[in-house]
Amino acid sequence: MSVTGLCQICERNEAAHSCPNCGTLACEDHWSERFDLCVQCASTDGDDGRATAVPDDLDDEDVMRF
Ligand SMILES: [Zn+2]
Ligand SMILES: [Zn+2]
Repeated sequence: MSVTGLCQICERNEAAHSCPNCGTLACEDHWSERFDLCVQCASTDGDDGRATAVPDDLDDEDVMRF
């Protein structure tokens, strides 16, 4: 995909990619080939799935009491 414009993250290098998630134009330095996203989305989206920490223990205690 060819993108015209500057990287919206560093605003110095020519953008080479357009992030499908947020639409940010990113240069090679700010693009994650691994996630196919800009580095902003690649870093916030979590790579190991530990973003959600739901305290299931509370529900278990309620069930046991009942
Ligand atoms: Zn950049
Ligand atoms: Zn993005």
